[in-house]
Amino acid sequence: MGPKPLPNVLEIKPYVPGLAAEKGYKLSSNENPLGYSPAVREVLASGLDHMETYPDGGSNLLRSAIAERYGLSADRIVCGAGSDEIFQLLARAYLSAGDEIIQSEHGFLVYQLVAQQSGAKTVSVPDIDMTTDVDGILAAVTEKTKIVFVANPNNPTGTYLPFDEIKRLHAGLPEDVLLVLDAAYAEYVVKNDYASGMEMAGSFENVLMTRTFSKIHGLAALRLGWAYGPAAVIDAINRVRGPFNVSYLAQIAGIAALKDEGFMDKSAEFNKRELARLSEALSNLGLTVFPSVANFILVEFQSSGDYTADKAYAFLRENGLIVRDVKSYNLPDCLRISIGVKEANDQIISVLSQFMAGR
Ligand SMILES: *Cc1c(COP(=O)(O)O)cnc(C)c1O
Repeated sequence: MGPKPLPNVLEIKPYVPGLAAEKGYKLSSNENPLGYSPAVREVLASGLDHMETYPDGGSNLLRSAIAERYGLSADRIVCGAGSDEIFQLLARAYLSAGDEIIQSEHGFLVYQLVAQQSGAKTVSVPDIDMTTDVDGILAAVTEKTKIVFVANPNNPTGTYLPFDEIKRLHAGLPEDVLLVLDAAYAEYVVKNDYASGMEMAGSFENVLMTRTFSKIHGLAALRLGWAYGPAAVIDAINRVRGPFNVSYLAQIAGIAALKDEGFMDKSAEFNKRELARLSEALSNLGLTVFPSVANFILVEFQSSGDYTADKAYAFLRENGLIVRDVKSYNLPDCLRISIGVKEANDQIISVLSQFMAGR
């Protein structure tokens, strides 16, 4: 018999990423349809001169750039190879066998994955109207709870919690439970009652906010994310991370991306328009579209008969459109569709109207 991994490792169901498009459009991973900033492309090209040197292990210039952009203190920021790595580091630093994390029923799968890596259990709290239930989460807290993960806005539901609700959640949590506010889609939200949680992460000992360069900045391929929070939590993450966890190219790209506010504004503006257009058009076809504040929509189909999510998925695929099947999120009747370029969204509308035509 060969070497044996830990039993909790063998229980992990590998994460299945959104399929890549062989042809047509990939609308399965919430990527930026506008690509990424031309200024980033320039900086990356010049960065290729320096591949033989190790990157700055502390991502110092990048952390300063983030701090300046958002008015934060750089020593309260840590960068990671995507926010996924930050979640993994949190699990390494805070979770062991027998511990619990809490997340919403349809919460982001990566939280569960990193908990399992540490042998911790995930407690999933049912949503109300496809939205995270604060009272439900508070009622689920036990002595074993170490981390509460809230994606706000949430993926794959697209819904969000107003800042008052986040404050209420925090106020009800024990001081030794870490509240992680995953604000991966924050830049897309246009709601007066929304906040990413930056302010809370700056003032409480048990709140951490995470952000990513994968969505609005369009740099998913480079793997870059960051977290902001209390000094003690940042210190713990720094102790367990690899000494060179963020590549040089990711660091210089991140700095350039933050400077290009024009690209961010353009991306947010485009998303706002197309999100509204797609949501309305699909609702008009008789489909249930949950109200989204992010760069994707969750669409509900019938649970049996000719108009199921499975059949819609297959029909879209035949027509060169790859969307996300969300069975693994316990949403078997739904599909998640990322906002694409205008032509892609046009095709989604026309293919789904063909699909629904006989109804
Ligand atoms: C896309 C996404 C992220 C970003 O992950 P990265 O590892 O930074 O690419 C984080 N949280 C949620 C909920 C997401 O959907």
